Amino acid sequence: ASFADIGLAEWAVQTCKELGMKKPTAVQSHCIPKILEGRDVLGLAQTGSGKTVAFALPILQRLAEDPYGVLALVVTPTRELAFQLAEQFRALGSCLHLRCEVVVGGMDKLSQARNLVGRPHVVIATPGRIKVLLEEDPDIPPVFSKTKFLVLDEADRVLDAGFEDELRAVFQCLPKSRQTLLFSATMTSDLQTLLELSSNKAYFYEA
Ligand code: AMP
Repeated sequence: ASFADIGLAEWAVQTCKELGMKKPTAVQSHCIPKILEGRDVLGLAQTGSGKTVAFALPILQRLAEDPYGVLALVVTPTRELAFQLAEQFRALGSCLHLRCEVVVGGMDKLSQARNLVGRPHVVIATPGRIKVLLEEDPDIPPVFSKTKFLVLDEADRVLDAGFEDELRAVFQCLPKSRQTLLFSATMTSDLQTLLELSSNKAYFYEA
């Protein structure tokens, strides 16, 4: 299959070509159509499988159709991963005037809060910092009240690191009607529990 065959718009197909991606990887060809259909997705996929593009492209395609408010909140276990994700989102979304903000520990909280109030399209966060911002600043929860996608990247690592409370704080601020996309290298019962908090019957992908 090609990127066009799996339901991506012309600009997205062109972007993939420009970034040197010739055809979708397995996780992409299975998950992208389901995400475009509006399903929740639980994907078991290793780093290197192309999972970031698998969730970023359908999110950006939704943004191209409806550029209103914060569209997606992506939670990832470490700062380094957050910046890498932002880099991929920015590369894939370069022709959409994408506004993407990173919210991680060890950096200035006030400027992060200000950036969030400016309503970027995509927010990439580590669990600790997003929880603090949601709880300490009353201007922040409303920023996420219309979020359409929650992505948990490397969800097993987020849970292993004991971030259940942080995740619950995040879940509470998001509308029930959102799509939840969970990507993980391993399956744990915690993932299943988390997915039950989402509204859509999930599509399960395993490599
Ligand atoms: P990830 O699994 O998200 O960590 O991605 C691993 C690497 O694969 C990244 O550097 C991507 O740019 C690259 N990549 C993702 N999708 C494709 C594709 N369809 N063809 C070639 N490279 C890809």
